[in-house]
Amino acid sequence: MPLDLVRERSPERPVALVRPDAVSVAARWFQSEFKGDVFYAVKANPSPWVIRELAQAGVRSFDVASLNEIELVAQEAPGSRMAFMHPVKSRKAISAAYFDHGVKTFSFDTHEELAKILDATGNAKDLNLIVRMGVQAEGAAYSLSGKFGVEPHNAPALLLAARRATQDLMGVSFHVGSQCMRPTAYQAAMAQASRALVRAGVLADVVDVGGGFPSIYPGMVPPDLSEYLAAIDRGFAEMMVHETTELWCEPGRALVAEASSLLVKVELKKGDALYLNDGSYGSLFDAAHMKWPFPVKAYRKTGEMVEEGLKPFRFYGPTCDSVDHMPGPFYLPESVDEGDYIEIGMLGAYGVAMSTRFNGFGETDTVEVQDAPMASMYGLAKRSIPAVRQENEERKIVRFSRPKGAAGKRKRRR
Ligand SMILES: *Cc1c(COP(=O)(O)O)cnc(C)c1O
Repeated sequence: MPLDLVRERSPERPVALVRPDAVSVAARWFQSEFKGDVFYAVKANPSPWVIRELAQAGVRSFDVASLNEIELVAQEAPGSRMAFMHPVKSRKAISAAYFDHGVKTFSFDTHEELAKILDATGNAKDLNLIVRMGVQAEGAAYSLSGKFGVEPHNAPALLLAARRATQDLMGVSFHVGSQCMRPTAYQAAMAQASRALVRAGVLADVVDVGGGFPSIYPGMVPPDLSEYLAAIDRGFAEMMVHETTELWCEPGRALVAEASSLLVKVELKKGDALYLNDGSYGSLFDAAHMKWPFPVKAYRKTGEMVEEGLKPFRFYGPTCDSVDHMPGPFYLPESVDEGDYIEIGMLGAYGVAMSTRFNGFGETDTVEVQDAPMASMYGLAKRSIPAVRQENEERKIVRFSRPKGAAGKRKRRR
């Protein structure tokens, strides 16, 4: 338990509190409910314990974006299938992936990158070539379509080129954007992909619906994950595909978000600002740059949990940079003070993964804990979260609006 850790060790450095069972539960859910192949998007959390836990839970496929990620998966989950899904790769990385690691699946969004892949694999004939399409993503907290994805009017020619370049699988992929709050975004993206395929006059062997499956954060409680899979089923049924067309997905966040929280120490209190030993250059990137008000719990230095007299605080990280600021608001007991500890929840995805060593900070210890995550999409905890207060809730709901009624009814537990 985090409490024992505070009491017995008073950790000086930030501690990633990890819950391998939460990874396992999420992985099993996806594997039993998704009607296709599940690739874990390694970038969400490349910790070796995550890769090993997924492999143990039966995940055999990984979405990788760099040679380092390929080497990591080869080491921690030997024998796995990997798909190199970054649309821009170095020739050296492509060659090493194909010749040294047996990677056969590559994605791209230009003719130039396709030519590069063919060249760097010695014109291999056994490639699975996946065209990354740009789709209009609605309801995602992060859009990923600005940087990657072939535009709809250029897609047919690229699909045709891919079809001609391989005797193995040709497919389409997209990413609706991370933390997607609308299940129907998948169905809409699949319709866009289908139109491009029809115009190209080719059939896809693979439809890869990418990542984007959400987790729970204050102000962002998504519909049930089963609604996402139902929307994908409907989208797939409406696509022009053949009987053996494979359905793939590449969840990152949804498999790992619940599996880690972060225990930080308060180094100084200055009014409503708490100066912590971790921040935006460490594991709190989204809290700073996306201004996500992650859920928090406070522990006295003596090890008891304090819950009463909550008041909004903001956080500063340890570096000297003024962008190292997490506005929150984070609701903590008014009496919280220097030397106390704060557990910040739901940081398993894009948390430790984002950490740098800037300014001499960022070293994080890892401790396995058994308690439940602060919220859960998989029944490990409530499907809601200790909520932030009104003003913030409203701001978030406007941005990530759900169908009327659902958001307003959310209970406030504190
Ligand atoms: C980041 C990424 C993912 C995972 O996205 P999540 O929103 O974490 O599920 C999947 N596929 C690709 C190509 C990505 O870049």
